[in-house]
Amino acid sequence: MSDWLDRLRHVEPLEDVPVDESLVSGLEQTWGDERSDVRQGINFYTPTFKAFQTSELKDCGKSAWPAVSITGGDCKLQCDHCKAKILEPMLPAKSPEDLWRVVNGIIEEGAQGMLLTGGSNHQNQVEYDNYYSTIRRIKDEFPDFKIAMHTALVDKDIALCMEQSGIDAAMMDVIGSQDTITQVYHLRRRVDDFEETLEHLVATKMKVVPHIVIGLHYGHLLGEWNALEMVQRHLPDALVLVVVMPFYAPESRPFVTPDAHAVGRFFMDARQALPETPLLLGCARPPGMTKLQIDTYAVMAGLNGIAHPSDGTVELAARLDRNVKVTPACCCIAVGDEVMALNGSDAGLDINLDAIIEQERNRRRMSKISNQGLNGIRIVTEQGSDNSSRTGLCST
Ligand code: SF4
Repeated sequence: MSDWLDRLRHVEPLEDVPVDESLVSGLEQTWGDERSDVRQGINFYTPTFKAFQTSELKDCGKSAWPAVSITGGDCKLQCDHCKAKILEPMLPAKSPEDLWRVVNGIIEEGAQGMLLTGGSNHQNQVEYDNYYSTIRRIKDEFPDFKIAMHTALVDKDIALCMEQSGIDAAMMDVIGSQDTITQVYHLRRRVDDFEETLEHLVATKMKVVPHIVIGLHYGHLLGEWNALEMVQRHLPDALVLVVVMPFYAPESRPFVTPDAHAVGRFFMDARQALPETPLLLGCARPPGMTKLQIDTYAVMAGLNGIAHPSDGTVELAARLDRNVKVTPACCCIAVGDEVMALNGSDAGLDINLDAIIEQERNRRRMSKISNQGLNGIRIVTEQGSDNSSRTGLCST
């Protein structure tokens, strides 16, 4: 058994997770070296440390980073994996006046920024034209309020409009397969249109954080490697990886759950392709065992950040000698703190393995739960017993 596999099997919530042993061994050979930059740090994003302990998303209601849709729940594209459902819970702002009012309201409630998005037209454009002057007004009035925008496809002029209006971060999905564009998105656009959009955005002063949705082609990996090459050619500030969750797929065009091992291999390739670019795993990924597998591979592949980690993932990172940080924020990986604080020294709180174990034990004592491990993290030593005395796995 490889050393990393052995360490994985000592993390109780992950001890039975099926992994591709040759992939784990390959990851270890590539990044097991102490001098590897990949081992330096990993940040976990969770609403609160308390919520982290149960891996449940609590207290998400008053997000510091609400999402606002300029089309409300309307979207002309009706992609097969989404059917505009992603827009439904967002705050609607269907006119510039509405946007001004919504922003003033959320700032009063403590928002630090927002994700600004909307449904697409048939060309995969979100029609922001009437909003730029209001966005500029927002940034002039509230300079500390950050705005991340889902840009969809843009030309050079639109990218400049976004920059001039004061947008802080630009986000787009990079799609590398023509079949996916045509069949899943029902779109008459070319793969090159996505690459050109990325090129135009990167040429501005905005932080650019594209996403690759793994498994976008009905749950299969198809254009992901091409998308990765596109990202490699234009080097954005960070890349967010998410795994498709096609809850809304029509029965006539069903999605399969992406193969977690294939996702793990893609993580490895992405890390190798972008050694200097922060790689983040966003909160969208299939639940259950697939999520445990995906999160395990994400840690082993050296991703820099993971939103809403599964139970055991933080401990695994510590056991693999990663410097672990926790940012107690909700959904920020997609829109907020992480993107704005990229490379910032103050991103995240340092924690150590002992602190995690102590927290878990306290919680177990408080809830009088016994015989179920540490309800998430039980440390199994080489002797097979709980032990919180292991030290030095990561620094405070
Ligand atoms: S364009 Fe975006 S919001 Fe509209 S259906 Fe497709 S994924 Fe959903």
